[in-house]
Amino acid sequence: MTVARPGLYVWVTWLAKLMAGEVQCHWAAYFRARYMGYAKAPSDFQAAAWMVAHNQCLDELCREYSEAAAVFREDQNQFRVTRKSGTVVSGKPDVIALDAGGGATVYDIKTGAPRHSDIIQVMLYMLMLPYGSPVYKGKKISGCVVYHDSRTPIPASAIDKEFQDRVTYFLNILEAQEPPRRTPSAAECRYCDLTRGDCPEKIEREDEREGGELPF
Ligand code: SF4
Repeated sequence: MTVARPGLYVWVTWLAKLMAGEVQCHWAAYFRARYMGYAKAPSDFQAAAWMVAHNQCLDELCREYSEAAAVFREDQNQFRVTRKSGTVVSGKPDVIALDAGGGATVYDIKTGAPRHSDIIQVMLYMLMLPYGSPVYKGKKISGCVVYHDSRTPIPASAIDKEFQDRVTYFLNILEAQEPPRRTPSAAECRYCDLTRGDCPEKIEREDEREGGELPF
C-alpha cells in the first residue's frame, strides 16, 4: 500500500540516473522520494539472471581484495546522510576496500553496458561516505566501476566543489514543492517500476499511442 514517507528519502541510484540524464521523467524519483510501500511492476527473468551475474562478480572481487586491510561488502556498506533540509540520502556500495596506507576504494559492479550513471553513482558514494560513517571520515576515497571485461577508475580528486554543486542542484529538484511533470514514453515507462496505480500515465505497450498517417 502506498504511504507517505515520514520525510524525503533519496536512494543514490535514482539520483545518479537523474544527474546522468538517463531518465527524462523526473516525476518517478520525485514520487519515490515521498512515498513507500507502493506496488512495483514485476521484474522478469532477466532481472533474476542479472542478480546471479552480479553476485558472482561481487564474490570474485572480494576474493581479489582478500589481501587488503579490510573489505566490506553490500549490507555492511549501507549509509544514510541527512541534508540540512532534512532530506535523507542513502546508498549501498557493492564493495569498499581499505588499504594499508589509510585510503579506501569504493567498487561498484555493473553487468550491463557502461553508462554515465555508473560513474556518477560511485562519485556520489565517494562524496557521501565520509559524512555517513566515521570509518571514512578524513580518508582519501577513490572509486572504481567494475564491468565484466574492464574497469573504470575514478580518482579521489574527481570529488570537488563543482561536483558537489551539481549534486545540490539535482537534490533541490527532488525537494521542490511543485512536482515535475510526468514525461511518459514507451522506452522509459517499460523500465520504470511504478504501476498505473500510482502513475496513471504509464505507457505499458509500445503500440499504446497510435501513430498517424502522412498525407503524402
Ligand atoms: S511510469 Fe512512465 S510516466 Fe510514470 S513515472 Fe514512470 S517513467 Fe514516468
